[in-house]
Amino acid sequence: VFAALEQAPEDPILGVTVAYNKDPSPVKVNLGVGAYRTEEGKPLVLNVVRRAEQMLINNPSRVKEYLPITGLAEFNKLSAKLIFGADSPAIQENRVATVQCLSGTGSLRVGGEFLARHYHERTIYIPQPTWGNHPKVFTLSGLNVRSYRYYDPATCSLHFEGLLEDLGSAPSGSIVLLHACAHNPTGVDPTIEQWEQIRQLMRSKSLLPFFDSAYQGFASGSLDKDAQSVRMFVADGGELLMAQSYAKNMGLYGERVGALSIVCKSADVAVRVESQLKLVIRPMYSNPPLHGASIVATILRDSEMFNEWTLELKAMADRIINMRQQLFNALKSRGTPGDWSHIIKQIGMFTFTGLNSEQVAFMRQEYHIYMTSDGRISMAGLSMRTVPHLADAIHAAVTQ
Ligand code: PMP
Repeated sequence: VFAALEQAPEDPILGVTVAYNKDPSPVKVNLGVGAYRTEEGKPLVLNVVRRAEQMLINNPSRVKEYLPITGLAEFNKLSAKLIFGADSPAIQENRVATVQCLSGTGSLRVGGEFLARHYHERTIYIPQPTWGNHPKVFTLSGLNVRSYRYYDPATCSLHFEGLLEDLGSAPSGSIVLLHACAHNPTGVDPTIEQWEQIRQLMRSKSLLPFFDSAYQGFASGSLDKDAQSVRMFVADGGELLMAQSYAKNMGLYGERVGALSIVCKSADVAVRVESQLKLVIRPMYSNPPLHGASIVATILRDSEMFNEWTLELKAMADRIINMRQQLFNALKSRGTPGDWSHIIKQIGMFTFTGLNSEQVAFMRQEYHIYMTSDGRISMAGLSMRTVPHLADAIHAAVTQ
């Protein structure tokens, strides 16, 4: 019955790794994957995560029962505290409904479907460009997707006027997706002053913020600093949605652990919102997985483990910052044409190099370097060993 089915295209991001795996070259480098790698190019399981897992395994009363539809209650509380801050008025006033979801993607999907069912506006504005899965997730949630200007290729920085203009002309009440920090793929974030202007504009037009936080702690190395944008929007007493992922900052990629929080106007509304979120989740996957959420709760509830986590997180962030400097220096020392200062200015896991799709194809062909066709490279996939090879490849690509 499926004989006439067409072959579906590879996912544009995950397909990079598929192509990389097929390449037999010993010098190949994968800069397409959005996952942290050590200096040796290996995946990293944080020490604190190993410790938490050991504690879970050694606990004789541990069982494998289903979680509630909304997930592990303690995990939900701690996750809200992590992003909004322990002293957040919204938490203290019990105005936050939090449900454990399948990492960041699942949180976006559940939030999107909740909005499509219960919110009066069906249009969500997403930045141009954004993570490639955003438009698909929201379209399948039942929302109409439109974009707002975000990045200016001419300056490799924020297109702030375009952003204000586009959000300013969005219909009142529209939903707006905002990357909380370390914007993917550009590595360009608004300054705090710019965030404040965005907040004022959005609140004045009753635009509903939907934050995506996939890199808390990865941008600056500080969990609190990376949550500043979000906390400004909570501090004004308004409503918002928040999708949180522990994939990158705890290295729990495959455990699929994340949370959706909806900040409401009152505790009473939050209770009803949670009841409706359950109706979205139950027919989708019934209830979320136990293991990853147990790891996160074990770490977040214990101040000593929490501190160890922040140190390990900072070490990952610092290695990435160092790679930026190394790559920048390597291009400067080769006299590669162009202003490469955006490499050190951009933050988070990715650099938007400004290389075009032909240059990307050339580097794959000639240097076995793999990245997405928009010229995005994962700094987390680089090492002292691979920086010179990448710099040679970029130099050849822009001077060919
Ligand atoms: N949002 C953004 C901006 C991302 O970059 C990612 C991961 N690449 C996600 C959400 C979702 O990741 P996950 O589902 O693995 O948490």
